Amino acid sequence: MIPVPLSTLIFIFLALGITVVCALWFWTFIRERRRETHRRHVAVQCRICSTAYLRDPKDKNAVTICPVCNTPNERTRLRPI
Ligand SMILES: [Zn+2]
Repeated sequence: MIPVPLSTLIFIFLALGITVVCALWFWTFIRERRRETHRRHVAVQCRICSTAYLRDPKDKNAVTICPVCNTPNERTRLRPI
């Protein structure tokens, strides 16, 4: 068995804890960023009534009809809040 001083053991556990917390934070950040990118890829915001609705990602048509006001909308990026 390797003798380890208590201060070294505490430092190792603190370093492991900080590493785990940073890794989880980074993983959550990347996951949320991917979800937001996907949402912005499939969402269309109406230029008249500002309703955000989903479009069919397989539909290659660039113009979609708003389900609320029936206005044709071209797919553009959603404005950030
Ligand atoms: Zn609309």
